[in-house]
Amino acid sequence: MDYPGRQQRLQESLSPRHLDLLLITHLPNVRYLCGFSGSAAALLVSQSKCLFFTDGRYTVQAHEEVQGARIVISCKTPLMAAAEWLTGNRKALGRKARYTIGIEAEHLTVAYRSRLAEILPSNFRLREAPTLVERARMVKGADEIELTRSAVILGASLFERALEVIRPGVRESEVAAELEYAARKAGAAEMSFQTIIASGERSALPHGRASEAAIPARGFVVCDFGVILSAYCSDMTRTVHVGRPTNEARLMYQAVRDAQQAAVEAVKPGISASEVDRTARKLLRKQGLAKYFTHSTGHGVGLEIHEAPRLAAGESERLRPGMIITIEPGVYIPKKWGIRIEDMVVVTETGCEVLTPSSKELIAL
Ligand code: ZN
Ligand code: ZN
Repeated sequence: MDYPGRQQRLQESLSPRHLDLLLITHLPNVRYLCGFSGSAAALLVSQSKCLFFTDGRYTVQAHEEVQGARIVISCKTPLMAAAEWLTGNRKALGRKARYTIGIEAEHLTVAYRSRLAEILPSNFRLREAPTLVERARMVKGADEIELTRSAVILGASLFERALEVIRPGVRESEVAAELEYAARKAGAAEMSFQTIIASGERSALPHGRASEAAIPARGFVVCDFGVILSAYCSDMTRTVHVGRPTNEARLMYQAVRDAQQAAVEAVKPGISASEVDRTARKLLRKQGLAKYFTHSTGHGVGLEIHEAPRLAAGESERLRPGMIITIEPGVYIPKKWGIRIEDMVVVTETGCEVLTPSSKELIAL
């Protein structure tokens, strides 16, 4: 990973935003910028320096992992250590009358902001910074795309396991357990989110986490799951049918599949995120199903399971080559059933490449 390059691009973006420093506390952003994978860290970036703060538990790990930044080990929390460093090293920053420090407003708690303001000298001003690192993370490098590809392949192998264990009478949580065991056995660090196995009427809950419910003799089962492998997340959904599907069930499945396919085909550089969302919704509207599609069409995936861009109405972000996004329309008829199909795709120079290899045919078990 080109950590020094990422740091340099961030440093170049500070001055145009009138920021002297940026204080990064969101761990995935810290990891993106310097490679540190532990659970306590802050990164202080000025136009010429990068300082990494952690505590004594991570002395060895920080020296092994952190690239491009000077390491400061402290017995304080990383954020307080950064504040203390600023207080004691003002000269190292140059001789300005005032310094503006950007903070990650999306991630820093109100309590920590207050403590920072108390500790820092009066010529330091805290300002909510735009999401500079998240924006940089939207477009993946070739190495990130390859790592994601591996995570997606591992994730997709779990669907094969799901097909073996989904049977009437088996609890949803047992299915999830089998998937998660297989994931760890295959080398995944952990699941990228809580596994969703939603059967029967529960399939109408878009986020129906695997419960104690037994899979009924007939009906849809929504399976939405992902892994983290080498820091990168996967995310996929397939909906299978237990027992013979009715004609109505087949038609509705096909409608979701057509909407998903149309949205995948719409993905190309320059198209706006909202336009991709609109494409999926348009097809469902033709079938009278748009009102049952109650969430956005997709999201970015990378070091985190939900990243920018969001594919939803009103999102003007234009897709660019290297973005990795999900395409996941669904319909949910309360008290009846739900269907969702989700692939991960990478935007290419001419369109997109679907990363998820699993079939989207309706599978009856
Ligand atoms: Zn998903
Ligand atoms: Zn998703």
